[in-house]
Amino acid sequence: MIKIKLSFHGAAREVGRSCFSLESGGFSIMLDCGVKLREKDGCPLLPERTDALILSHAHLDHSGMVPFLYRENNPQIYATDLTFELSHLLQRDSVKIKRLRAEKQIYSDDDINNMLSSENVMGYGSRRNLTDGISFQLMDAGHIPGSSSILLEIEGKRIFYTGDIKTADTWLQKGAMLPKADILITEATYGNRIHPNRKELEREFLALVEETLERGGNAVIPAFAVGRTQEVLMILKDIPYPVYLDGMGQKVTSIFLQYPNYIRDIGLLQRVANNATWIENNSGRKRAMSEPSVIVTTAGMVSGGPVLQYLHRLHSDKMSSILLTGYQVEGTNGRLLMEKGYVIDSFTDSKIPIKMQKHQFDFSSHAGRHSLERIAKEVNPEKAFVVHGDPEPCESLGEFLSGICEAHVPGIGDTIKL
Ligand SMILES: [Zn+2]
Ligand SMILES: [Zn+2]
Repeated sequence: MIKIKLSFHGAAREVGRSCFSLESGGFSIMLDCGVKLREKDGCPLLPERTDALILSHAHLDHSGMVPFLYRENNPQIYATDLTFELSHLLQRDSVKIKRLRAEKQIYSDDDINNMLSSENVMGYGSRRNLTDGISFQLMDAGHIPGSSSILLEIEGKRIFYTGDIKTADTWLQKGAMLPKADILITEATYGNRIHPNRKELEREFLALVEETLERGGNAVIPAFAVGRTQEVLMILKDIPYPVYLDGMGQKVTSIFLQYPNYIRDIGLLQRVANNATWIENNSGRKRAMSEPSVIVTTAGMVSGGPVLQYLHRLHSDKMSSILLTGYQVEGTNGRLLMEKGYVIDSFTDSKIPIKMQKHQFDFSSHAGRHSLERIAKEVNPEKAFVVHGDPEPCESLGEFLSGICEAHVPGIGDTIKL
C-alpha cells in the first residue's frame, strides 16, 4: 500500500502564501513557498523538513518565502530559468521595500545569493527523478512567462498541481497545457466568476484610452510589472499617441526580451518596447504629462511606485483618466480609488482625492470558472483539491468538482492521505 501525504501549509481557503507538501517514503517535496502580501504575519506554517522544492512561478505569493526555506532546510530547488530570474528580482525588491519601510526582514540579499547554487533549471516537458519512485515535469501554465504547472509521479500515481493557470491565449502568451492525472490540486482564484469577453474588453479599454487622449488628457495605466505591463503595451500597439513606460515593468520587459521562447510573439513585444519611451527620472515624468499620452506604470494596485507621483500631479485633472488593469485586493489603493475616490500615499501618509476619470478592467491572467471546469474535465482525476481562492470561490468550484470526482476544499494545516 503506497502512502502519500498531502499537506496544506498556506493558500487554503485564501489567496496568498501558496505552500503545499507531498511526503512519500520519508522524502518530502514542497510545491511553492510564498507569502501573503499586505499582512503582518503572512508566512505559511512550514513543515519540519523539505528535501526538494518545486517552484511554479515567480509571483511572491508563490516564491516570497523560498530564500527563508532554503536557509532553514537547504532543499534542492527546481523551476524554469525565467522563473528563477524573475523570482530573484521580486525577492530582492521585497527586501528593499522592507528596508525602506523599516519592517522586520524575513531574509536578506545574502540568503538569496546563498540559494543560487542549489537552483536546478528545468525546461517544460523534461522529466526529472527526485528519488526512487518520485519524478516530476513542468508544463507551461500560461499565467505569466516562465510559469509552470507541476505534474508529479509518485509510485505510479500522477498528481497535477495547476499553480496559477490560464488556458486561453493572450497577446503575450499561449494558454496552458493539460495532462491526465489521478489527483488534481487546482487554483480557484476565479472559482465562482466568469471573465468578460476578452476581445470586447480590449475594445472598450482602447476606446476609453483614445477618448482621454483626444480631449487632451493623460491616460495613466497602473499595471503589475510581470506580465500585465507587457500585455497592456501589446494591446496598445496601434495607438496613435506617445506611450510611456515607467517603473519595474521596464526591467521585466528587458528580461522577457532575453527569453524569446516563453513569449508568443517576441517581434511584437520588441516593437512595442521600442515604441514606448522609457522614463528614467522626474523630468521624464514631467515631459510625459506635458502632452496627451499613455503612461503605463507600476504598481498594479496603486500601492506604491511611480504611479503615485503621477497621481500627486494629475489628481484634479478631469480630462485625464486612470485605468486599472486587474483585480484590486481589499485594502489596496486601487480598491480605495474605485470605492471611495481617493488613494493614500503611505510614505507621506497623505490622502489624495482623485478627480480623474476612473475605470477598472479585468485583464486577468487566471482561468475563469468555465476554464477551471474544463481543466478538471480534461485532467479527469479521481480526487481533486481546491486551493488559492477566497472561501466562496473555493466552495463553489469544490461543489462543481464533487459532481465528477471526490472533491476536497482543505483548510490551512490539513493533511490528507492520498
Ligand atoms: Zn501568480
Ligand atoms: Zn498566485
